[in-house]
Amino acid sequence: PTVEKNDFIRQIVRDDLACGKHTTIRTRFPPEPNGYLHIGHAKSICLNFGIAAEFGGWCNLRFDDTNPAREDPEYVEAIKEDVRWLGFDWHELRHASDYFEVFYLAAEKLIRDGHAFVCDLTPEQVREYRGTLTEPGRDSPWRNRSVEENLDLFRRMRAGEFADGSRTLRAKIDMASGNINLRDPALYRIKKVPHQNTGDAWCIYPMYDFAHSLSDAIEGITHSLCTLEFEDHRPLYDWCVDKVDLVNHPELLRPLLERGLPNEAAKPRQIEFSRLNINYTVMSKRKLMALVQEGLVAGWDDPRMPTICGLRRRGLTPASIRLFADRIGISKQNSLIDFSVLEGCVREDLDATAPRRLAVIDPVKLVLTNLPEAHEESLTFPNHPKDESFGSRSVPFSRELWIEREDFMEVPPKGFHRLVPGGEVRLRGVGIVRCDEVVKDGERIVELRGTLDPDTRPGMPGADRKVKGTIHWVSARHAVAAELRLYDRLFAVPDPDDEREGKTYRDHLNPDSIRIVQGWVEPAAAGVEPETRFQFERLGYFVADRHDHAPGRPVFNRTVTLRDTWAR
Ligand code: ATP
Ligand code: MG
Ligand code: MG
Repeated sequence: PTVEKNDFIRQIVRDDLACGKHTTIRTRFPPEPNGYLHIGHAKSICLNFGIAAEFGGWCNLRFDDTNPAREDPEYVEAIKEDVRWLGFDWHELRHASDYFEVFYLAAEKLIRDGHAFVCDLTPEQVREYRGTLTEPGRDSPWRNRSVEENLDLFRRMRAGEFADGSRTLRAKIDMASGNINLRDPALYRIKKVPHQNTGDAWCIYPMYDFAHSLSDAIEGITHSLCTLEFEDHRPLYDWCVDKVDLVNHPELLRPLLERGLPNEAAKPRQIEFSRLNINYTVMSKRKLMALVQEGLVAGWDDPRMPTICGLRRRGLTPASIRLFADRIGISKQNSLIDFSVLEGCVREDLDATAPRRLAVIDPVKLVLTNLPEAHEESLTFPNHPKDESFGSRSVPFSRELWIEREDFMEVPPKGFHRLVPGGEVRLRGVGIVRCDEVVKDGERIVELRGTLDPDTRPGMPGADRKVKGTIHWVSARHAVAAELRLYDRLFAVPDPDDEREGKTYRDHLNPDSIRIVQGWVEPAAAGVEPETRFQFERLGYFVADRHDHAPGRPVFNRTVTLRDTWAR
């Protein structure tokens, strides 16, 4: 399934191509390697890589690694894997830290041009001088230092002469601006922390807005797509690009050429779109990290997590996530997407792509007493009801079957169309059975005994005889024991971020978000590769667990039920 894509960003891109402003569209996806990617990032990935592909351009993967304290190579590798798994490939892999020397030269240029100064205010004083939304800020007493003094101090900052937090390099813009981002924002801070990419080479690090805008300019990004909270930063983004002016100052790019990194410096345009928010989950890396570190989930790739690797382990397909991104679309309107929209995309994709198999979650034995003890046959089942290209398989059938405990009721409520004492039901692909006897141990049903009507078997004259219900089964002698992990939403409430009444998202966890049972699967489901996906008929879509499944010891995760059962 495809969705017509004509959002406001694609319209801008189309216009820019039509009027000749750009001939090649260049985008980037710029994650900070401080955690695993989540479904919100997938929206941004699908947008950036999608636009590049649709308009014949390219998209870089750029690690925005300007905050060394929280970054880790583990995240770098995980992010690369997630982007590839989603089906995208980058033009070039870059790091903001590849440009540290360029940023430094750019900062010296700003100092020489009178656009930046070294400030000795403490962080508290900076805050105090900044003013408020309604009150203008005040100039730093260090604002009018000479170019020479600023250059000298900035070089000594780089040389490591000053303590963390004792000085900053600040842009000289306007302390009275209505936009607080323009009140002489910091461009560099001192941080004596080793960096995951540059090691001990630096003890000063550029601030996000400075590094991000210049990285875009260095790579010749035409459309720098980011989320709405950066709208107020756009004037600063443009200020950095214009005042540094890489296009007319190629000497600043020399450090790149020395390292063999090509660049196509150009003036980028920042465009903001609304973040993805989904109910029944949290989406901030900080909170996801806390869930992992506090052991509230089994890891970043726990199948209940909204991380890309969690969704993957849950059994979602890359196509279903891309379909979701297309379906929710791109706009400037903040909205909350219902979790069921994602589940709907998964069902739609897996309905078309997942072969069918038989499995039983909560078994009770059904003995067909009119078949001989040693009876054994091989039935042919289509692998997909709507697509013959999936072929067929043989399913063993015998006298003793496992059926679903909930498909039998001794005292059925009105409208129960499955098996009842003395009643009939169709066994999928076999024929009609009648329940003759219920064997109990105290209150618990331990076995059902019944008879198969031979006249209703496929090809027989009574095969079309109507009964209300059809149930699934597996042959007890042939089925393979499997661990089945049944998942529900991680949070029990639509808004886990709701902190009223002193609660935190930890208090909103759904205690029933995972149920592990031992069930049975037909042989053709057991020996498959990890990450093989099936529809277990009537039970939902399942995936062989990426890590724990082994052919001799099947482990399946339920991706999603066949219908939306949440509003029960
Ligand atoms: P978080 O708040 O979860 O830590 P972040 O924005 O700090 O996310 P980054 O690594 O900086 O994480 O994100 C990389 C890119 O993904 C950015 O361009 C960001 O705008 C985008 N992005 C992050 N979260 C979402 C979201 N929920 N919806 C759409 N885009 C997102
Ligand atoms: Mg960020
Ligand atoms: Mg963040």
